Amino acid sequence: MSNPMIYMDHAATTPMDPEVWKAMVPYLQQSYGNPSSVYSFAREGKQALTKVREIAARLLGAKAREIYFTSGGTEAINWALKGIAWGNQRRGRHIISTAVEHHATLHALEFLEKQGFEVTLLPVDEQGFLHLEDLRDAIREDTVLVSVMAANNEIGTIYPLKEIGALCRDKGVIFHTDAVQAMGVLDLNVEELNIDLLSVSAHKFHGPKGVGFLYVRGGIVIENLLHGGNQERGRRSGTENVAAIAGMGKALESLSHRKAALSRMTDLRDRMIEEILLLPGTRLNGPRGALRLPNNVNVSFRNLEGETLLMNLDLAGVMASSGSACTSGSIEESHVLKAIGVEEDFIRGSLRLTLGEATTEEEVLQVLELLRSLTARLRSLKRS
Ligand SMILES: *Cc1c(COP(=O)(O)O)cnc(C)c1O
Repeated sequence: MSNPMIYMDHAATTPMDPEVWKAMVPYLQQSYGNPSSVYSFAREGKQALTKVREIAARLLGAKAREIYFTSGGTEAINWALKGIAWGNQRRGRHIISTAVEHHATLHALEFLEKQGFEVTLLPVDEQGFLHLEDLRDAIREDTVLVSVMAANNEIGTIYPLKEIGALCRDKGVIFHTDAVQAMGVLDLNVEELNIDLLSVSAHKFHGPKGVGFLYVRGGIVIENLLHGGNQERGRRSGTENVAAIAGMGKALESLSHRKAALSRMTDLRDRMIEEILLLPGTRLNGPRGALRLPNNVNVSFRNLEGETLLMNLDLAGVMASSGSACTSGSIEESHVLKAIGVEEDFIRGSLRLTLGEATTEEEVLQVLELLRSLTARLRSLKRS
């Protein structure tokens, strides 16, 4: 392809850091022993797991034995929700979450509802914020779990984990957070924030795909999701993906020096938002300022189709995401944009552009120029 490629879909996945790849190679080649084996050859893999568990625990202010490796964010979230629901159902069968969670959460909760659990999905305001009074009012005697994401993957809204955690602690309710978009951006000290379970996925912060972890506070009762050979201290069976976990460890280690890129990213984000809002018939989805993820731009174009915008951007070498998904011929609107009340004439014309630390000002200017000409062309076609 001769087009220069501009990747603006970092909320979907991120490019793997070459250092991560290097950290994985030994476990894909010479150090192939099964970490559960007893002979000394298997020790290298086992040591890699121990090291990464310690790195993850240090980042969260947790203990290494509270970290369980999973196949990614979806598994961690499913395990947290189903495991807590199943393991604590004698205490109660009521779960609280929000209307704007990732599908991993929403669909797992729908599954639990079919099993007789009761789920309350809290509404959010027009910027995606949750009101703490709503949460306080929703907590009942039989509420066992509250699950609120740390930051929204579509519109970038950041949630007040500390206040939510304090409320849950006060009421004796277990608190899980989907921190997949927040890792490396927000401080996630589980002690300060009163978090009991926290889900992470490596491919959202320059690690490999198909690996993540669940933090489970010591003493929390959780049922297993996977049964088998009793790996991960009997809680998550299946031979560990040692190479991917080693790669995740390197990606976790690199997070501290990636923080420096966040303020530059925030500037580019705001520049992009301001310029797009100068175009006719546009609106911003999600909040402005410090309570928005530094890399998230989500805008809607009145009476345009997000899918058309995406296809045209793709032809120009720009990769982004829309707020709607075209499934089997019909357009399914984003549950997040619906929950924040985006009007009918805007909701289908939404576009999510998520920046990365390698995103340059030049790329931002190119995409802005493209959007200017593209939307003008699409609008003039509509009029004629
Ligand atoms: C990507 C994402 C997930 C799913 O993680 P996978 O590792 O891709 O399964 C869950 N929650 C949020 C907020 C995400 O952005």
